[in-house]
Amino acid sequence: MAKTNKAQTTLKFIGGINKDRIGGNCSVIEHTDKQGNTDVVMFDLGSIFTPYETGFVAAFPNVDEYFDRIDPDTKVETKALKPVKALFITHAHEDHIGALINYAKMGYKLPPIKTSGFSRNFIRLAFREEGVSEPDIERIKGGETIKISDNMEVKAVDVSHSIIDSLGFFTKTYDEGKPCAAIMNNGDFLTEEEMPVGKSFNKDSYINTLKSAKSPVLMCLDSTSTSPFGKERIGFEQAVENTYNAVVKNNQKSVIISPVISRSVQNIAIDMEVARKLGTKVCLDGKWLTLVKDAMFLSGFNDFEDVLYKGNLKAYLADDKIKKKYVVCTGAFAQGLENYEYNVGVDEISPIPMSSATKMALDLHPVIRVDQKVLVLARQRIIDEINGKTGPKMLQMLAAQGATVVMSPSAQKVGNFEEVQMQDSGHVNATAIKTLMKDVKNNIKDVVVIPIHGNPNQCADTAKAMHEIGVKSHLVENKEGVHITEGKISNIEPKVTPLTWYAVRSISPNPFSDRDVPLEGLREFWEVTEDYESIRKICEVANVRRFSPRDENYSNSHKFLEKAEDMPKREKMKAKKSKRKSTDMADIIKAKKGKRR
Ligand SMILES: [Zn+2]
Repeated sequence: MAKTNKAQTTLKFIGGINKDRIGGNCSVIEHTDKQGNTDVVMFDLGSIFTPYETGFVAAFPNVDEYFDRIDPDTKVETKALKPVKALFITHAHEDHIGALINYAKMGYKLPPIKTSGFSRNFIRLAFREEGVSEPDIERIKGGETIKISDNMEVKAVDVSHSIIDSLGFFTKTYDEGKPCAAIMNNGDFLTEEEMPVGKSFNKDSYINTLKSAKSPVLMCLDSTSTSPFGKERIGFEQAVENTYNAVVKNNQKSVIISPVISRSVQNIAIDMEVARKLGTKVCLDGKWLTLVKDAMFLSGFNDFEDVLYKGNLKAYLADDKIKKKYVVCTGAFAQGLENYEYNVGVDEISPIPMSSATKMALDLHPVIRVDQKVLVLARQRIIDEINGKTGPKMLQMLAAQGATVVMSPSAQKVGNFEEVQMQDSGHVNATAIKTLMKDVKNNIKDVVVIPIHGNPNQCADTAKAMHEIGVKSHLVENKEGVHITEGKISNIEPKVTPLTWYAVRSISPNPFSDRDVPLEGLREFWEVTEDYESIRKICEVANVRRFSPRDENYSNSHKFLEKAEDMPKREKMKAKKSKRKSTDMADIIKAKKGKRR
């Protein structure tokens, strides 16, 4: 790049500030010094949850200009216009990492990734599971600073969220040693200082990090739950008590089914604690839960080992020593239900990927039959833009088979199911964010908030909360950039080209179609408009599953990963757990998924 008379830093949003749906989180920081030297780093690369009617299962931000690519069909190579030096991942939720494997399948070369131990292991296992070569991922810890060049450094900070090992990133840019910009990307976050599992946000160290900036601070704030009408938080202990009471109230039920978001470990901890109180063991069911459990083991988290059943689901259900069965399974969002009903909807050997709870609802589960003995704990609230239709439908299907359903309160009322608040949102609420930002404002002279991770209404809620406490904020959209020149926000760069997404269609073999599709199915990638209208087909790639939890070699595949990294300090549940006998997690890894019918 040519010499300029002023160094400039630009914070640009590719996805994550969408006009309607949540997801597709991705932002970029570009810095150019007066000599024309440029550094580009990216933060997160997630999926957006597309409406089912579009026929696409997910979409991802179009970051074409940032990555090199070799077209898998033509082998033609294209070079990135703005090569990214590092991709920082805040946490391993799908709306922050979901694009990675899809980009790899499309032939893009992923830049070096920097993230926490759990996120790293989870991403590696997910790539392994889908038979895709693992990207280069470096593990970083909260407090660590990564030097990108003489002009840019990125410091990781521990934050709290519903998943474990979440990081925020604080980027500082310089020109000839002079500070230019300071940008805090919190990722999804909570300000709770004591989460049940792993590290937590620490306000003092967070504010000290911000204070190290010698320029005004631009702060990206999670806006998912900042609505002024949001529920007040109940906290972990109360969530455990409410869930436990719901179980005791339905004491005649011998099987508890708790469909969860597989990666939201802080919420799964509620089930584990309830099972401990009940004096029973938990059996996990579903592919993604198995991956999460393995990634936890590899990262040194063994908080649940005393309460997990070491054996498959079939053995667990037949085990007379366990009076109260507690199955924690995938399916909080009823994944696969619509796909099954509208797409192939054929039989039980259908390769449509389905969560465990969806299989139960459709009576396709290989082991569990739902009846009057079953209590369903629907602890995750219904989120209209993810499972607004499928969530209620799945719960009603389970109830129709005789199960009793207790659900967390949601905007939608479903049937006449009893409502009990059994967990909190994984995102900071209006009260908590105002408390934190008042303290930030008292310590940092100049801070400007950019609301992210939400639709325009959610982002406006954050801006309103900031206005109430006298903190400046700027509302921006996807594809817009915020320029910081000589320590000041100089202008907002408007959208130059229209926003497009890369969307993926999942094609399953169908006996009624002429199309030749391999048994594992294939993925079609399309460039689509903001309204998910097709622009062009990019490529199609057959699915490969090299290592599946169903395979005998699955446990062996883990030998290629390193052993548990370091043992994170267990903060909250440590005292309670000291009395429990430790058990060998390796046995759990060996436990195989129950055989199919
Ligand atoms: Zn998240």
